[in-house]
Amino acid sequence: MEYTDLSVRELQQGYRAKDFSVSEVVRAYLDKIEKENPTLNAYLEVFDGAFEYAKEADALFLEKGDRAPSLTGIPVAVKDNILIKGRIASSASKMLENHVAPYDATVIKKLREENALCIGRTNMDEFAMGSSTEHSAFGPTRNPHDPERVPGGSSGGSASAVAGKMAPVALGSETCGSIRQPASLCGLVGFKPTYGAVSRSGLIAMGSSLDQIGPLSRTVNDAELVFNIIRGYDELDATSLPAYEPVSAKNKRIGVPRAFIKDASPEVQQLFEGNLKKLEKEGYEIVDIEFPSAPYALAAYYIVMPAEVSTNLARLDGVRYGHHAPGEDLLDEYKKSRMEGFGKETRRRIILGTHILSSGYYDAYYARATALRGALAKDLEKAFESVSYIATPTTPNVAFKLGEKADPLSMYLEDVFAAPANLTGIPAISVSAGTIATDGKDLPIGIQFMSPKRSDKSLFDVARTLLGETNT
Ligand code: GLN
Repeated sequence: MEYTDLSVRELQQGYRAKDFSVSEVVRAYLDKIEKENPTLNAYLEVFDGAFEYAKEADALFLEKGDRAPSLTGIPVAVKDNILIKGRIASSASKMLENHVAPYDATVIKKLREENALCIGRTNMDEFAMGSSTEHSAFGPTRNPHDPERVPGGSSGGSASAVAGKMAPVALGSETCGSIRQPASLCGLVGFKPTYGAVSRSGLIAMGSSLDQIGPLSRTVNDAELVFNIIRGYDELDATSLPAYEPVSAKNKRIGVPRAFIKDASPEVQQLFEGNLKKLEKEGYEIVDIEFPSAPYALAAYYIVMPAEVSTNLARLDGVRYGHHAPGEDLLDEYKKSRMEGFGKETRRRIILGTHILSSGYYDAYYARATALRGALAKDLEKAFESVSYIATPTTPNVAFKLGEKADPLSMYLEDVFAAPANLTGIPAISVSAGTIATDGKDLPIGIQFMSPKRSDKSLFDVARTLLGETNT
């Protein structure tokens, strides 16, 4: 057993039992990163100061013992779109390559209050647009289960860091599956909280009505532990939920929208069914449900998100923030700065979003996508009258090879099962459903559970049951 195999809970217990020191664990992680990161490219930067932190943490345990803050000695990898004061936060874009964060994101403040070690910033698709981490301006990240394949995206660096044992836990963010999909492809737990449960203050915005920060971890207990630390009302986020307490499920009934999941590969469907059987043995009841609007969710997402991202990225004009290219006049400067600063996928979505929001097309696209969000919420409300959970595969396929999904549409389709949760703000979790032998490698695949708004806690319960974890 190596230190880097331990979960957050095991590290916490080990420090308190004096089985090992923070300095030993931090050393093990830095060695592992030095060995694996040149291939996997999970981290864009590993922060200096880890050894000094470790010494202080060890001293703190000597002084305070069990009363040391709960995350003392726990390294956390942080997606590069979450601000850490004094550190670069680039969203994996050339546009923000040298952008130093002027303040801490609320989630970082909360991690610091528990004395966590933010060990480094992880690679991602530029501005969180993508499902493979190939759209980073700083090279792709690779999947530890098969380096020829993508880790998923956009939080692919965070997923690769945790699956590659370069961090016990990481923060990711998702707008449409960017935590769950990489968790699925890397064999991890990925949790997308109820919209508003975790503050977005200090998260570089992509689609503001969809974005949410959440954990990627190797155990359900670790995901819940980190979620409980980072959640909470925040006056710095206008969409933060006041008086939020996660509630449990009202029954053990799981709904399966059969018509919606038929697009998953046969192997994925087979594993999915096997997992449902396991849950049946544990006392869950599996029933078929209707979710008629679900197949349209992805199309609506690809209207809402570009509209919002084109607005959010308008501030990056090379004058106030970001990459600056000199031009003949102001308009020329804007054009050159944005052309040089943004990658291809980002420019594609800005153009799409601007078109969608233009006066001639707004009603045809944006208004209809907004109406569809309403239809999804209605369908869910109806379904959740009888069931406490909805289960689907997390992704229709296992990890694809780098470069395999060069046409954008085929990549977008990988998010088909993720979209309903983000568009309606409900929580969702992905846990490993097992592996599928592909080209001589065992590739992981996830199963996802969704539940009504604010019932985040129930997702950890069902996920724990499936993985055979106990909550002690
Ligand atoms: N993969 C999706 C996209 O490309 C979702 C990204 C995300 O959740 N941040 O937009």
